[in-house]
Amino acid sequence: MTEYYVCPGCALLCDDIEVEIEDGKVTKVNSACRKGVARMKGCSDPMECTVDDEKTDVDAAITKAADILREAKDPLIFGHGNSSSQAQQLSIDIAKRTGAYLDDTSSFCQGPIIEAILQDKLKTCTLDDIRHKADVIVFWGADPSNSHPRHLSRYSYFPRGNERQRGWEEDRTAIAIDIRKSDTAEICGQSNFYRIPMAADAEFMEALVSALSGKVPKTSFDFDKKKILQLANVLKKAKFGVICVGLGLVYSLDELEPLFILMDKLNEVSSFHLLPMVGQYNMRGFNQNLFDKTGYINRVKFDGEDNSVKHGADFSVIESLRNRSVDAALIIGSDPLSSLPLSVARYLAEIPLITIDPCRNLTATKSTVTIPCALSGVEAGGTAMRMDGVEVELKKVIDTDNLTDEEILRRIKEAI
Ligand code: SF4
Repeated sequence: MTEYYVCPGCALLCDDIEVEIEDGKVTKVNSACRKGVARMKGCSDPMECTVDDEKTDVDAAITKAADILREAKDPLIFGHGNSSSQAQQLSIDIAKRTGAYLDDTSSFCQGPIIEAILQDKLKTCTLDDIRHKADVIVFWGADPSNSHPRHLSRYSYFPRGNERQRGWEEDRTAIAIDIRKSDTAEICGQSNFYRIPMAADAEFMEALVSALSGKVPKTSFDFDKKKILQLANVLKKAKFGVICVGLGLVYSLDELEPLFILMDKLNEVSSFHLLPMVGQYNMRGFNQNLFDKTGYINRVKFDGEDNSVKHGADFSVIESLRNRSVDAALIIGSDPLSSLPLSVARYLAEIPLITIDPCRNLTATKSTVTIPCALSGVEAGGTAMRMDGVEVELKKVIDTDNLTDEEILRRIKEAI
């Protein structure tokens, strides 16, 4: 019987992946997209176990990591999007015990959308609902053809679903709203592509709400009113609509109010859902796990003494580094020195830094301690949460000599 695996290349967590293995390595990957194939084949530059740039064994590295976290007054723990839920839970436990700042990449990407969904302020649905029911799909500031390459083929546009038997040719309308003609917009077609100026998303939403209310839409930028009215008409007729929210939209909105108003209006006249286009495979899992324990999805600071928790922008990874309010950092499955603004991330190189990751990255090169871990979803199992909040079981594909991040964090927790 064919064995299928789950790809940890993005938060779609495709579960139909076949692999071929030779000499303990993944040599061929079937069904996955190019991103997934690269992820399943593993690191091109694996991490080594080091303390102060000297190679060492994992026991010594774990002892040193625990010493750093124990001695720190205000450590930062960051990353988590590429870790299993079990590892994330341990990370939360360590943050509690050490009075740490705890954050993840949702802090500067999809966080506000996920928070609103978890607080029941936005109506959402699963990817399976989209495959089986969605007839109008709006990609807003999103380009899944590149960010989540199998989104359209597995769920949102091309497949035939239970209630969408005639598929994309007759049964689905895909619409792109973006500042540029992305590859996804090309698939949607010129008549379903709405090019808006940069940072004009809130204003376009307002115009759309007017059109949905039967009023003449107004915009301060030059946009064909007729086209907005046509769009409103398509959205009104949707039986099961979904807006796939990309980073282009998230970054453009100063606050979510215009999106709340649009969703309320859409749900007055038809039925619309919202799906955050989460990137890292288990970012949503981290948000859910932290939410379950604290009521917050990110940007928290624990008090090591009484276990109270503070939350807010000051406790985000960016502000805590900008304000130099942390004095050590544990980075798990992330590369903040590459992904954060250098003016902020540079401070990481000035404090004791621990990196746990299967692959060497820029942050690792500046770390006091580096600990290689098994590649989650390939060399280790566990559970993770898809972008739609559905839990998925990851299967181990091949063995490795590296410990899992879960095991490393458990041992650090015990040693603190
Ligand atoms: S779409 Fe995402 S989960 Fe699916 S195969 Fe590609 S990278 Fe992997």
